[in-house]
Amino acid sequence: MDDREKDYTNDPKEEQTGEIEKRQEQKEQETEEKYEKVCYMCRRPESKAGPMITMPGNICLCRDCMQKAFDSIGSSGMDFSKIQNMPYMNLNMNDFFQNIPENIEIPKKQKIKKKSQKAAALTMQDIPAPHMIKAKLDEYVIGQEQAKKVMSVAVYNHYKRALVDWKKEAEEDGITIEKSNILMVGPTGSGKTYLVKTLARLLDVPLAIADATSLTEAGYIGDDIESVVSKLLAAADNDVERAERGIIFIDEIDKIAKKKETNTRDVSGESVQQELLKLLEGSIVEVPVGSNQKNAMTPTATVNTDNILFICGGAFPDLENIIKERLTKKSTMGFNSSLKDSLDQEADLFQYVTNDDLRAFGMIPEFLGRLPVTVTLKPLDKEMLVRILKEPKNAIIKQYEKLLAMDEVKLVFEEDALSWIAEEAIQRKTGARALRAILEEFMLDIMYEIPKDPNIGSVVITRPYLEKTGGPMIQMRGM
Ligand code: ADP
Repeated sequence: MDDREKDYTNDPKEEQTGEIEKRQEQKEQETEEKYEKVCYMCRRPESKAGPMITMPGNICLCRDCMQKAFDSIGSSGMDFSKIQNMPYMNLNMNDFFQNIPENIEIPKKQKIKKKSQKAAALTMQDIPAPHMIKAKLDEYVIGQEQAKKVMSVAVYNHYKRALVDWKKEAEEDGITIEKSNILMVGPTGSGKTYLVKTLARLLDVPLAIADATSLTEAGYIGDDIESVVSKLLAAADNDVERAERGIIFIDEIDKIAKKKETNTRDVSGESVQQELLKLLEGSIVEVPVGSNQKNAMTPTATVNTDNILFICGGAFPDLENIIKERLTKKSTMGFNSSLKDSLDQEADLFQYVTNDDLRAFGMIPEFLGRLPVTVTLKPLDKEMLVRILKEPKNAIIKQYEKLLAMDEVKLVFEEDALSWIAEEAIQRKTGARALRAILEEFMLDIMYEIPKDPNIGSVVITRPYLEKTGGPMIQMRGM
């Protein structure tokens, strides 16, 4: 048969693609059904504006906007009896709607997920006991025992509080369970963000990480305070119910301390603390969906922050001096040089922090009052840094070993080499964050050269190699 005569309509391949397209369409429709419709004019979702009228081109209009449109036509004094005589009224509207470009639709990231029928209610079984949370954290986070313990208990209590309708119960027995938002104080790279990230992953709750430095008082350049809730909503896939049980981590919280000598309005310091109060305490906020800023074109969602766990973290430079000053002043009215010396030697002064010290630093009392749990993280010493290199489930060294194992090469780090990396990291003063940077520098050559020679069976990273006085020990296969 001539190729040109071939009946392409029966081509099984074509049938298959048709089938795939159909399935894709079905899938798209199913995901579409999970999201609320949003009014094209006022951008309110179905849950707020009521049922929508869907027009061709997937444009939805709420009844209010539809009514407004009719009212404005009516009030314009248009004579409807003459409509037939208007040439453009003979337009075929189907043609008109088919020509609407596709991007006129509201993007999915700005749509809110519908409330699930069978609301996945939180039960006691869903919340692991504090010792289990800590055991899981132990697999990833090295040291920081006290911090892990305090956080496990605070998180456990927080979700227990979320479980019950505490307002109703408080009416009955008069006991109100207060929110256990957390303030984390610890040097850079000591694992604050890592701890929160690991926690959120273990609990399977959405997490938003925001930077306090980008927040400003409403109306000023910068992100509004509510943008942190928008971020959480995005992390929860626009599912309001899931977001309402999530965690918001506000990093660099020390940067919104009250500015000391300032003549201008403190729009990124004290004012931000003031505006955060309501969120931390639990309030109902209207947040833009899929955007940091509220404007007329972004749809909004209503989120209750009552069961959202807020964790604020910061490195609080200079706080150590405030603590030291208080401790020396309290112990003696005179000059106590031995105490002062011992405090100078103390690496972990944060463990003695009190709310008064934080107030002296520039945090306002109302703000501190809403973060009742204070967690302090220790600066990482050499021993801890070595452990971080090799012990966590996802340790950096394990990652390199795995990569080289794919080339069937065994990678070994000498203990002395690990100590050198830890010493170098301490000098860089960025905590555990320096470890990866140092390793990347030295592993580059190894990762580049080793795959060149298929006879290499193992590589040992030695201290002289890191000190640049020698090379790695390389062994060939079968030796
Ligand atoms: P920060 O305290 O400045 O928020 P991070 O949490 O971002 O520090 O830490 C940087 C990196 O260092 C993390 O991604 C993590 O890999 C590692 N790290 C820090 N502390 C620890 C720790 N205690 N245990 C394991 N890894 C850690």
